[in-house]
Amino acid sequence: MKAIALHAPYDVRVDAIPDAAVVDPTDVVVRVSTTAICGSDLHQYHGRVPNLPAGVTLGHEFMGVVEAAGPAVTQVRVGDRVIAPFSISCGTCEWCRMRLPAQCSTTGRAVFGGRFGHTYPGGQAEAVRVPFADFMCERVPAGMADEDAIFLGDILATGYVCAESAGIRPGDTVAVFGAGPVGIFALQAAHLFGPSRVYVVDRVDYRLKLVEELGGIPVNLDAGDPVTQLRGLTGGRGPDAVLECVGHEVPFTQSILSVRAGGTVSSVGVYVEDSIGFPVRDAFFKDLTLRMGICNARNYIAPLLGLVQAGKLQPRRIITHTMRLDEAPRGYRIFDRKEEGAIKVMLTP
Ligand code: NAD
Ligand code: ZN
Ligand code: ZN
Repeated sequence: MKAIALHAPYDVRVDAIPDAAVVDPTDVVVRVSTTAICGSDLHQYHGRVPNLPAGVTLGHEFMGVVEAAGPAVTQVRVGDRVIAPFSISCGTCEWCRMRLPAQCSTTGRAVFGGRFGHTYPGGQAEAVRVPFADFMCERVPAGMADEDAIFLGDILATGYVCAESAGIRPGDTVAVFGAGPVGIFALQAAHLFGPSRVYVVDRVDYRLKLVEELGGIPVNLDAGDPVTQLRGLTGGRGPDAVLECVGHEVPFTQSILSVRAGGTVSSVGVYVEDSIGFPVRDAFFKDLTLRMGICNARNYIAPLLGLVQAGKLQPRRIITHTMRLDEAPRGYRIFDRKEEGAIKVMLTP
């Protein structure tokens, strides 16, 4: 089958590899109907992720139809259309039972595409093995398009958690750092909590244009220090909640510096470094609350599915490109370089 693999930084290739197969009795094999490139794939693409197994199939956003099931699988059947979260969890260990499936000790906090823990090939392929299928797979309602369902397993859940963890109350002012797919979903999710205004900071003009279409207020990084801009926009005090959706030291620092005293910074950008700078004095004297972490997306698939069906979240608004799996090298390039208006690049095997 065809699969997308990273061979060296910026070197993404379409490889021919053996077909995905059931290995353990709790596995299913999913024939992929739609997959996508995530901002987290870019950390690997840039060579910022140590110990990435060479040639491993990339991708952790995918959905499709079950084409084979191990003998111990009871909750899903061959022919079911399913979605799975990006992290791989057993459903029965101590962490999974505490509703922290992204901390699963059985898989070593594994994600599809093999960054940590056990290596499981990813979903940017014609088919993918999904371990612990009874826990991992959520059936997608008939009539719900792939474009509306696929992001539930990763970035839509992440954007939602970012907003939920920020403790937004009706009337609050909110700032989001990053207008990538995650930041735009954080903007959409923030609106569920009734803020008066949501500012979104980035420098990519076509992404800021979508922000405006979705009811956010663009703040262009190139117009000056975003901390100063956000203070100016909030009567000198700073936003009540800041949602960090980039995953670098600079926006993390700016989030802490810009939030109001007693406010909350909620960070979901993935930090690949062991440690980064932290304006600890400002954070301390401001009495701020910091929430951060990897998203336990499995917990959110079903509840967010209802919000998508009700039109309260509009995931497909971010999709700018749909291309064949073979075109993945170009997809990575334009998503990384922010060319051709790319916000979300979908791949169809
Ligand atoms: P993306 O690369 O498309 O978006 C990042 C955006 O941030 C870009 O538009 C970029 O122009 C902007 N940016 C860069 N520096 C900035 C700054 N100083 N201030 C404001 N904006 C800045 O990626 P994405 O798909 O939106 O993902 C965003 C982050 O979320 C990544 O770090 C990704 O790994 C992470 N992520 C985390 C989880 C989780 O479980 N916590 C899940 C999915 C993605
Ligand atoms: Zn992701
Ligand atoms: Zn587990």
